[in-house]
Amino acid sequence: MAEIKITDLNTHGGIGANSYLIKFGCWRMVIDTGLHPKYAGNEAVPNYSLVSDDSLDLIIVTHAHLDHLGSLPVLARRHPDARVIMSSGTSAIAGRMLRNSVQVMKYQREELGIPEYPLYTRGEITMLEDRVLPLEFMRPLTLGESDEDELEIELHPSGHIPGAASVRISHGGRTILFSGDIQFQHQHILDGAYVPDIEPDLLVLETTRGSTVPKPDGSREMVMDELLMTVSNILKRGGSCLIPVFALGRMQEMLAVVQMAIHSGKLPATKVFCSGLGMDIVNYFDLLSRKKGYPRFDRSILKDLGVRPPSRDLKPGRNPGEKGLYLVSSGMLVEKTPSYKLAASILDDSANGICFIGYCDPDTPGGQLKECEPGERFYFEELNHEAKVNAEIHKFDLTGHAERDELLDFAKRQNPRKILLTHGDPEARQWFIDNLPGTCPGVEVVNPKPGRHIEV
Ligand SMILES: [Zn+2]
Ligand SMILES: [Zn+2]
Repeated sequence: MAEIKITDLNTHGGIGANSYLIKFGCWRMVIDTGLHPKYAGNEAVPNYSLVSDDSLDLIIVTHAHLDHLGSLPVLARRHPDARVIMSSGTSAIAGRMLRNSVQVMKYQREELGIPEYPLYTRGEITMLEDRVLPLEFMRPLTLGESDEDELEIELHPSGHIPGAASVRISHGGRTILFSGDIQFQHQHILDGAYVPDIEPDLLVLETTRGSTVPKPDGSREMVMDELLMTVSNILKRGGSCLIPVFALGRMQEMLAVVQMAIHSGKLPATKVFCSGLGMDIVNYFDLLSRKKGYPRFDRSILKDLGVRPPSRDLKPGRNPGEKGLYLVSSGMLVEKTPSYKLAASILDDSANGICFIGYCDPDTPGGQLKECEPGERFYFEELNHEAKVNAEIHKFDLTGHAERDELLDFAKRQNPRKILLTHGDPEARQWFIDNLPGTCPGVEVVNPKPGRHIEV
């Protein structure tokens, strides 16, 4: 039986810079190559010093979010012979995401004085793209020269964003299953996860929603209906509505939802404004949809809705020139982004509204604004503007991650020998430590310490 040794390379724990080193019999691989969203410079990179140079056979990336993909060029340059494996959907988007990251790092180098930025160049990304071996879902890839060496990799759609995969790796009579970031419920443009029952020796399970109590009647569809009703009220009374969205996945989903809602009369006809990376991802999704049949997305949506970028002439405390629906990134109102500037522009007017639809880190402006009471003051530091919270602030939970009970069911169905917890804050992981034993009796549950080897 092949020996399995696994090491969490995510220095800071939590969700962070996802990356695992796996020694699986004669194979050496790293799964996921993230960048930590809350740290900067080398501090944001996983602890690659635990991986000796030129020692990897494989680098596998589960999906194109930067907390899983963002440091791929850093690792890949140190392992020139490693094959880089991802789903064909992820490979279609990855280059664009990494190039955007170079642009952001160049800017941060100047603004924040981080000398090591950018961590990689556009040229390196182009070379890396040639190294990627794209895999289709549910078409196993067999590697190795003899029966003893044989290693099989299979990707299953994990329903989180287009291209996102759960990963099965089998070798020497043993199997590892990585859930990846996973969502079982259908999203408007993407079906939920489909992963067969595998009975792995090791299940690496994401735990993002471990500390979130699911609403008893809160199906995604119902939350979406509530959101549309709220947006409709704001628009009908002549206000503008800002929905801060993540550029990859959520913006495109919301565009599709808005199109459907206007056609069915759930939303009044309105001007729709989008900008930035998300508008570009629209084209990538359109191409994917034609080539692979997912996501359900057609770029003609932009024409149909008459989508335009917001005016560049935004002034804090003064309504944007045109009223309408603003679907712009970042989802957490991070400084310097369109959503931050728009929030500063619309917050003072009580006709307007801001609808948060996803997670905001409590340290971000979005996280802070979400907690504000009506009438309180909110300071937009970067713009040196103090606003009064007159616009309505609404919160809707449209997550791309499975609820904790769904993950328990998943773990039970998979029937693993051992479970390793990943991608969750300490409280979220604790909930699984407390609740997995009742669902999966006799299964060993491990919350890995960063940098410590675990044998399976
Ligand atoms: Zn993700
Ligand atoms: Zn993630």
